[in-house]
Amino acid sequence: MAEINSPLSALYSQLLGVIESVEPRIAAATRSELADQRASLKLIASENYASLPVLLTMGTWLSDKYAEGTVGHRFYAGCQNVDTVEAVASEHARELFGAEYAYVQPHSGIDANLVAYWSILSHRIESPTLERLGAKTVNDLSEDDWEDLRATFNAQRVMGMSLDAGGHLTHGFRHNISGKMFRQHSYGTNPETGLIDYDKLLADAREFKPLILVAGYSAYPRRVNFAKMREIADEVGATLFVDMAHFAGLVAGKVFTGEENPVGYADVVASTTHKSLRGPRGGFVLATSEYAPSVDRGCPMVLGGPLSHVMAAKALAFAEARQESFQTYAQNVADNAKALAEGLMKRGVKLVTDGTDNHLVLMDVSSFGLTGRQAESALLDSGVVTNRNSVPNDPNGAWYTSGVRIGTPALTTRGFGAAEFDAVAELITGVLKATTPVTTAAGAPGKAKYTIADGVADRTKAAAAELLDANPLYPGLEL
Ligand SMILES: *Cc1c(COP(=O)(O)O)cnc(C)c1O
Repeated sequence: MAEINSPLSALYSQLLGVIESVEPRIAAATRSELADQRASLKLIASENYASLPVLLTMGTWLSDKYAEGTVGHRFYAGCQNVDTVEAVASEHARELFGAEYAYVQPHSGIDANLVAYWSILSHRIESPTLERLGAKTVNDLSEDDWEDLRATFNAQRVMGMSLDAGGHLTHGFRHNISGKMFRQHSYGTNPETGLIDYDKLLADAREFKPLILVAGYSAYPRRVNFAKMREIADEVGATLFVDMAHFAGLVAGKVFTGEENPVGYADVVASTTHKSLRGPRGGFVLATSEYAPSVDRGCPMVLGGPLSHVMAAKALAFAEARQESFQTYAQNVADNAKALAEGLMKRGVKLVTDGTDNHLVLMDVSSFGLTGRQAESALLDSGVVTNRNSVPNDPNGAWYTSGVRIGTPALTTRGFGAAEFDAVAELITGVLKATTPVTTAAGAPGKAKYTIADGVADRTKAAAAELLDANPLYPGLEL
């Protein structure tokens, strides 16, 4: 990370002082969060460290402006500066991804997915229905027509990856609105290889006939072939929607190219901005010109006023990602994940799909006699921040789980390379080997409690601190 000069440190201190004068606990928590982030080995695959220019851009009065609508077509007066911000962010996103259209208003990944779903529904169903009913706009519909339309919408079918195979809650999980508003069928992975089985997917799709085929994941350690996904979608008349929330940075950094790049294959692509893309917390949607008009209606369909200060920060993050240095970063993220996976496997840790070719690794910790929850907690006690995750067909369910997901985007931003990730693999394996489940009253291994052999947690923390000190976060920033 680039060295920060001392006037910026002084400025940050002053700014925290301003916050402190209003609510000291918030200033203290903000300082303390920086200290915690600096001191922990952050391996959460969905997290990163945004640059200071990106962070600074969020702290301005752009936040104060209401700007519902679209560029040049707002429901509020005086939006000229927000127009500039949104147009620049959208231009950078289009150029970065080579997309026909970019909508940068969604507040988060879930919002981006809701915009995507509703715009696909309205493009595929609303317009034909309006035509059938002889209405020009939805405002011309009677209450009965609306009943009709709602029934049609509710009957729609979506097919996405199941949660325990690595899909996301928004891909049709029963406790998410996507699982309520759609008839849902999920696809998993091949039980032997752990990989997506495209032939089976095609056979399932032929039977289920989804309106929307969703591709994308949060915990699948492999690349997806979007050309094959497109063929399957075309075969059954589905719209192909790709949720690249996790791997947008690898697309932006040109690690995923050709058939591994969803843009050009998918009709609609949604994403977060804060994961591997390393921007502010937020979302965006890319679309073909065919789907653009319905995506453009994200507000008022799903969203209220855009977060203009965050759109400004997205513009910076997209601009940063267009620099050559971001391509180096993205390649390092993927190379480091390989080094981490190899380091773990050679020390006897079992990985789902026996490796990785993206930014994340999914460990199956059951061979250590541990649940994901126990492993996650023992690692945290040792200064290693991860999150537990289901493995395919997980016998421990979604709460305790049998897996731990780790990723390389954040520590790669700090400057970690293959040697450091091999050292991280050594630390993780050491903790897992030293952790034993506490047996229940009935004598069976418990799912939550555990003990770590004496001294291991402290030794791991010290070794992690050494790695972290050699690769400082926001170097030069002293508060
Ligand atoms: C993280 C994630 C989301 C949701 O993003 P939020 O910003 O937390 O709402 C959606 N889809 C996928 C695949 C994700 O990994």
